Amino acid sequence: MLLQDHAARAAEARGEAVALAMGDERLAYAELETLSDRLAAQLADRGVARGDRVGLLIPKRPSAIVAMHAVLKAGAAYVPLDAESPPQRLARIVSAAEPSMLLAVPEAAGRLEGLAGELALPPVGSVEADRIVGADGAPLGVFARGDWDSPAAVAPGVRVDPSEPAHLLFTSGSTGAPKGVVITHAMVLAFVDWAVREFGTKPSDRISGHPPLHFDLSTFDIYATFAAGAELHLVPPSLSVDPRALARFIRERELTQWFSVPSVLTYMAKFDAVEQDDFPALERLLWCGEVLPTPVLCHWMRKLPHVRFTNLYGPTEATIASSHHTLPSIPADETLPVPIGVACDGEELLVLDERLAPVPPGEIGDLYIAGVGLSPGYWRDEEKTRAAFLPDPRTPGGEGRIYRTGDLARVDDDGVVHFLGRADSQIKSRGYRIELGEIESALNAVAGVRECAIVGVDAGGFEGTAICAAYVGSDGLGPPQLRGALASALPSYMLPARWLALDVLPKNQNGKIDRPALRERFVAQQAEQAAARAARAGGRERSR
Ligand code: AMP
Repeated sequence: MLLQDHAARAAEARGEAVALAMGDERLAYAELETLSDRLAAQLADRGVARGDRVGLLIPKRPSAIVAMHAVLKAGAAYVPLDAESPPQRLARIVSAAEPSMLLAVPEAAGRLEGLAGELALPPVGSVEADRIVGADGAPLGVFARGDWDSPAAVAPGVRVDPSEPAHLLFTSGSTGAPKGVVITHAMVLAFVDWAVREFGTKPSDRISGHPPLHFDLSTFDIYATFAAGAELHLVPPSLSVDPRALARFIRERELTQWFSVPSVLTYMAKFDAVEQDDFPALERLLWCGEVLPTPVLCHWMRKLPHVRFTNLYGPTEATIASSHHTLPSIPADETLPVPIGVACDGEELLVLDERLAPVPPGEIGDLYIAGVGLSPGYWRDEEKTRAAFLPDPRTPGGEGRIYRTGDLARVDDDGVVHFLGRADSQIKSRGYRIELGEIESALNAVAGVRECAIVGVDAGGFEGTAICAAYVGSDGLGPPQLRGALASALPSYMLPARWLALDVLPKNQNGKIDRPALRERFVAQQAEQAAARAARAGGRERSR
């Protein structure tokens, strides 16, 4: 079984059933099959072969999913690229992935042309609109080594082994360069199998596709929907900033499953976008990727008593999610975080000490994951792979491996796991996984910056973690210039929200940057600004 087989089976069983919906566009399973077969043939004709990678610079829309299936059918692995990423970061990812071909929508193709020389992938033509449907019917640009030949009509049907890569997902890297996580067919299939069983996913389901396609959570939406022969409703990114529009989307599409990062749920709760007993068709609400504040969860559970609420936990390196916790009832104590629960089938969550021995129940330790979800490692990075994927200490000399998540956790007396935060400088902001080190490297590279440090500060309430930058810079170098310079290197969600210019950064006894002290400075700055705002508001009130 390979990932693309789910859609193929659904097409055989119910070809006319809707597989994908976005805006007014609908794509039936039979169409998804025909279009992806045709594109796969073109890719194969062009020399894309087993073991290759194909970069996809196609925003979230049905044609992006067609392209993913086509790449898999050609025996290659796809690399979904974030069209919002600045060209410099994009170029880094593309150079690391070394795709034999890039498929890009016209808007993005324009940006790539500037980079094409550097990437040794000259633009060679376009796939015609009738061969791969886009919401706007626009042809896809093709960047490849050599010429684009005339396309064949028959899908090549290359059958790779399930242990071979299906896609590479690039996440933020602490040393500045994004890391490519290798995801195999078998890893995703194992999670999808478990999820379809656990949630009872069925052909009549109408499932949300909220996360961007370069984020691993989206692979759950896509492949679990197709495994059940259900409908995937891709949420237009433009709705993500409008909580009421998102609520309308769930209502009008009569979604039965919603899956997103918690910040979306928090945002919708903040704007009170959900009515009492709203979304009568909704059966399940799932979240993953960061902590959902318990008061927000309680708000949702009170509004939607007919819905099942499940917390999923896991890193990209272990595929979508590795553990789950379904709430038995509305939490009685809103100050207690929700557990991340117990392992999904075929996976294990281990809480270990620094000698890799299990810590007793109730004690804090490092969280490791073992089992079917584990990636073979980081793309062409032996060193990082060895540092994060360790031999399983329970089977010395064996083939077993465990993945060091960088998370802290404890197991309670019932064997349920509780998440206690990070042991390093990785943060989540609006659901995005961000290594503060990547921002620090980019800021250090700006001319005139002598020293800098990036810290995450809990902004409290709905804002989540704020990215804060402290720097020592040459005269005249202020936040507007620094922000401008960073914007050409980093996506907007990585740009610092707060700045602090210093003569020297505080250091600890070892001469290292004293990050806890810096965090305190930002917390104090936040308090001062809040007090000043309150005083100004008070002054306006009195002068009325
Ligand atoms: P990503 O690779 O983007 O999925 O990020 C993985 C990291 O997100 C984990 O190592 C955790 O730090 C965090 N994370 C994922 N799911 C949850 C969850 N349900 N609760 C708390 N943190 C989570």
